[in-house]
Amino acid sequence: MQPLRGTKDILPKEIREWQRIYKIANKILNIYNYKEIRTPIIENTELFTRSIGNFTDIVNKEMYSFSDQGKRNLTLRPEGTASIARAFITNKLYIEKSINRLWYLGPMFRYERPQKGRQRQFHQLGIECIGSKMPIADVEVIKLAHDILKEIECKEKYLLEINSIGNLEEREMYKVDLVEYLKKYENELDSESRNRINNNTLRILDTKHLKTKEILQAAPKLKTYLNKSSIEHFATICEQLEYLNIKYTINDYLVRGLDYYNYTAFEIKTKNSNQQNTICGGGRYDNLIQQLGGPQIPAVGWAIGLERLLILIQENFDHKVETNKIYITVQNFNKFNIIWDIINILQEYQLKFELDLSHQNLTKQIKRANQLKSKICFILGEHEINNNSIAIKWLQTGTQQTIKLSCLRKYIQYLKKSSHLT
Ligand code: ATP
Ligand code: MG
Repeated sequence: MQPLRGTKDILPKEIREWQRIYKIANKILNIYNYKEIRTPIIENTELFTRSIGNFTDIVNKEMYSFSDQGKRNLTLRPEGTASIARAFITNKLYIEKSINRLWYLGPMFRYERPQKGRQRQFHQLGIECIGSKMPIADVEVIKLAHDILKEIECKEKYLLEINSIGNLEEREMYKVDLVEYLKKYENELDSESRNRINNNTLRILDTKHLKTKEILQAAPKLKTYLNKSSIEHFATICEQLEYLNIKYTINDYLVRGLDYYNYTAFEIKTKNSNQQNTICGGGRYDNLIQQLGGPQIPAVGWAIGLERLLILIQENFDHKVETNKIYITVQNFNKFNIIWDIINILQEYQLKFELDLSHQNLTKQIKRANQLKSKICFILGEHEINNNSIAIKWLQTGTQQTIKLSCLRKYIQYLKKSSHLT
């Protein structure tokens, strides 16, 4: 049996890295008063068509949509922001607080061609700062992405790219001129860009096709269409990033693949040139909440693709061998009282152990304890069990001693004090 194409099992040897990322995110975001939120994986399809936009890649061709037994049109969420905005409105989170800082981590689903760093079920860690239109909010979220990546020790070099895509009116004016310009070269554009001319014009700016890129060089520039407030918003962000020593480059061609963004758009990319080099994407979305039927409340946020991030830190998890501190070998399971008495004491002291369940002879069990690089092996042979005692073998040195079960607590306390068990 194989898993579905584009989906993957996350195995125990990888899960420690996932837990580490969760812990780091939780720690840093908690300092900045971000609260974790978990929303359902399925939502009404309409949520995504209304927010992400009908002509975007996601809605156009990537959604896992189906109708359920009650003939409702449902979709497995392709991203987090729309669901968070929906939850924000449904639960009227704006009533209690004027600023809501939220974060999430969970699976997302997109029907795409699977390749390295591109899956059909993948995971995003994301944050949303809802309630402020101040540029310092944009800087706060960008700084958090930067700080989290730094603490995760993403070794590969990555770069922050930012751009201002202005407000709706500015973009509309720009779009008219860009369409007019591109129409002159329609036959020279790649077919994907040609298809986007009328419906998804701005996305053409982020094409990977060389010829189209060349044509774009002389095209009108979005930044020349921005008015004072857009320009000031962007300039403030840049100034603050400089103050914080967060390196960035301005990429005039950076537009995001979703309709709801305005003003700030940013991505964090690794330097390698493969198509899956964006690990984080985000921006400001001041109208999304209102567009979904909520109040006019501005917001800014980002999402990091965890599988792409994990590829970059892969080397970390291959070497870490987990060691069991105490391995318990038993000759005869019939006399189980002493086994459970020992286990309860180990649990009381929160000592990690593994009970051998193989029922093989003791020599084989002790050999396994060695293979697993256990520090200590408890041996419960017939003789020990009959005497209510435990033979304790230190596997690194080979020394062995026998203690009474009634002394086990004292023995552990001594070991802990002398830091043998840390
Ligand atoms: P791309 O251009 O690579 O398709 P995108 O613009 O569609 O990315 P976003 O919607 O901005 O991606 O999602 C934010 C992040 O989520 C991406 O930067 C990436 O790290 C991750 N991501 C998106 N789609 C996938 C996928 N199919 N598999 C794995 N990670 C993904
Ligand atoms: Mg995509």
